[in-house]
Amino acid sequence: MTEQEQQEMKKILDEKIEQTKEEIKQLEELTKPIKPDNAYGRLSRMDAINNKTINDAALREQKSRIQKLERAQKKLDDGKYGICIKCGDEIPLGRLKFMPWTAHCVKCAQKS
Ligand SMILES: [Zn+2]
Repeated sequence: MTEQEQQEMKKILDEKIEQTKEEIKQLEELTKPIKPDNAYGRLSRMDAINNKTINDAALREQKSRIQKLERAQKKLDDGKYGICIKCGDEIPLGRLKFMPWTAHCVKCAQKS
C-alpha cells in the first residue's frame, strides 16, 4: 500500500467510525426498554417489540463493526493494514474501500 493509499484509507476509516458511532447512538435510542404501560395499543406494542429485536441485532452488529474499525485504524498506524490476517496476502484496495473494517481477503472471507 502506498503512502497516498494509506492517507486515503485513514480518511475513509475516520469517516466510517464517525458514521458508525452516529448509528449506534440512534440505535441505542431505539432499543431503550419498552415501557409496559398503555402507551401502545396491543398491536403497536407487538410492533415495538419486533422492531426492538431487529434494532438490538443491528446495534450488536454496529458495535462489533466499530471494534473492527478501531482495530483497522491501529493497524494502519502500525503499517499492517490491508494484509489478510489469514493468508497474509494484500487485500485489494477496492475491497478495503468498500469494507474498510475487513481483515480478510475475498478468498479467506468466503472460506470462513
Ligand atoms: Zn486471505
